[in-house]
Amino acid sequence: MASDDVPDLYPSEPRPVRLMNTIWADKAGTHDALATVGQLDRWVRQCGIPTVGPLGEADLLRARELRDALRRLAATVANDERPAAVDAGLSVDRALATLNGFTAPSAPELRRDGEGGFHRDWRFSVDGFGRELAALALEAGELLSERPEVRIGACYGPGCVLYYHRSHPRRGWCSAGCGNRGRVARHYRRHAND
Ligand SMILES: [Zn+2]
Repeated sequence: MASDDVPDLYPSEPRPVRLMNTIWADKAGTHDALATVGQLDRWVRQCGIPTVGPLGEADLLRARELRDALRRLAATVANDERPAAVDAGLSVDRALATLNGFTAPSAPELRRDGEGGFHRDWRFSVDGFGRELAALALEAGELLSERPEVRIGACYGPGCVLYYHRSHPRRGWCSAGCGNRGRVARHYRRHAND
């Protein structure tokens, strides 16, 4: 894989989950798909996030800061106990403060919808990539506060560190592949002492 290549994992997941899943793992260990500005650029384009002008180191640091906070908060709502999945040095309170800091430059605004009615939208006091991150943080807040049966889950596929949006209540894996590996591992554990 070239250094700026980013695995496009599960593009059907909502954007905040896709940001969380820039930390991923395989047999060789845990990887960070947002290690360089080039990777951020690729990821932003994969997600269809509009940008004006080139991204820089400051954008990378901000995206990673939001990503790490989201993983911490997802771990909390998902009761995630996978040691490789989250930065144990980041407290839930600090992650919350980070998320709320990202959404701070936004305010709800009621707008006409053209049919005599109104719809709620958001007004941002930042622009460029900062505005995109603020919008992403707002989406993340919605996901993290959903009812337990539909909110974010942690994938317990062997060695997996990904999250997924619980598209149906009994979903337990990021993918069919992890589901199969997980069932096989469970089967062998159950029969290990036979
Ligand atoms: Zn998985």
